[in-house]
Amino acid sequence: MTWLLPRLLAVTVAMVAGGLIGLFAAGGEFVLVGALLGGACAVGMTAVRDTLRGFRLIHWLRGSQVEPAPRDAGLWGELGYRIERSIRLRELTAAREGERLTQFLSAMEASPNGVMLLDAGDQIEWCNSLAADHFGLDPRRDRRQRVTNLVRAPAFVAYLQAGNFDQAVQFPDPPGRRSLSVQVRIYGAEQKLVLSQDITERERSEAMRRDFVANVSHEIRTPLTVLAGFIETMVNLSLTEVERKRVLVLMTQQADRMGTLVGDLLTLAQLEGSPHPAADRWVALRPLLVQVEADARQLSAGRHGLVFPGAVLASAALANGSVPMTAEIAGAQTELLSAITNLVSNAIRYTPQGGRIELGWVRQADGSGVIAVTDTGPGIAREHLPRLTERFYRVDGSRSRDTGGTGLGLAIVKHVVQRHGGELDIRSEVGKGSCFRLVFPAARVRDSEPAVVSGGTAGIDASVAASLAVPVEAAVN
Ligand code: ADP
Repeated sequence: MTWLLPRLLAVTVAMVAGGLIGLFAAGGEFVLVGALLGGACAVGMTAVRDTLRGFRLIHWLRGSQVEPAPRDAGLWGELGYRIERSIRLRELTAAREGERLTQFLSAMEASPNGVMLLDAGDQIEWCNSLAADHFGLDPRRDRRQRVTNLVRAPAFVAYLQAGNFDQAVQFPDPPGRRSLSVQVRIYGAEQKLVLSQDITERERSEAMRRDFVANVSHEIRTPLTVLAGFIETMVNLSLTEVERKRVLVLMTQQADRMGTLVGDLLTLAQLEGSPHPAADRWVALRPLLVQVEADARQLSAGRHGLVFPGAVLASAALANGSVPMTAEIAGAQTELLSAITNLVSNAIRYTPQGGRIELGWVRQADGSGVIAVTDTGPGIAREHLPRLTERFYRVDGSRSRDTGGTGLGLAIVKHVVQRHGGELDIRSEVGKGSCFRLVFPAARVRDSEPAVVSGGTAGIDASVAASLAVPVEAAVN
């Protein structure tokens, strides 16, 4: 009411002044007329001023209200101030809520799942970019569109229409590139939260696990069945000493086969379950290659021409004044030995008698190191190459089993080299032979002492170097 008092006062003063003017200017009978005229003038002027101020306030309200409200005195000033304060408060609350919404949406955007919000009529309210990618949507353009008009996967449409969302639904995404799992949750007023997940990888590894278990069961059951057959034969038939010995040899072969298989499975499990080999534990390459060579010569039993630079350096080359191999690889000795042995044993098992097998070590220009096993065996057709390192994948199953293979060798080799930060590179041509290369990164390769090249004799064999596509000089360590 503080604004009313000055107005009443102004009207009273104006009436008194009007009355006095009436009294002195026109005589006693005009006092009332003068007072009334004075009061009317005061009310009129106040009305004009109020109209002006009210108009200014309305003009400000109609605008963007970015500038401060008109700062008038009295009623209009207070009105302007209070309106402006309430507007500013609302703006602040809206800004805070907007910020919270932005943070919430960014959290949804960062979700590892696709997130889509549908209203009660299944129209898209919002979706993150992952959901847009899963369902082939455009997050801006497709807003307010009915989702079933855009995502036409029959399983998804049927799931939404059935309205039973206890379980997730799985279906291939519209282009059929991957498998999606979608789960709907109801919230608010029949709105829907649609969560989508790409389960292609999970399905693939699940299929691989199933195949693996089936393969292991098959691989173990086969020798077991053979063994059971032999045992039955020995129980039911009276065999001569020669026959008995023959059966026992065959039984031993089957038992060995099972032993090798279990050994390889354990190696794989160990490789998968243990931390990567230390990068500061240096393993000298020469003793490894010497051991690989000894094993290889025993396995080959003179049927192949074997070329091992490690052996050359260890014996004959040392005698003729060459420098020994000084290369070292950072990692686990047993794993490295197992990988190289697997490659050499494959080369010997698959290369026919009279063939040639070479093992080479090259330090490449970028510092990386390559162990290469090259053979003149039957070679492998191009279509098999990408699958060779799959567990139990064999190009020729009977050949592999006849020679004691488990189908796990190259899977082990690949694991080992990858655990050492490197990669397995396979080159092969049918009828010409194969070259398996273990490539180790520069950080895991070093020379224990500077190597001195002596007349090219201390290096890798020229043909091996050619197969590795490096100059012979570079193939010297
Ligand atoms: P396996 O125990 O059967 O040898 P691997 O995983 O070591 O299993 O090898 C997978 C397949 O790759 C083998 O079955 C064989 O068909 C092929 N392979 C491996 N090494 C050679 C090679 N040096 N020459 C020809 N084929 C090979």
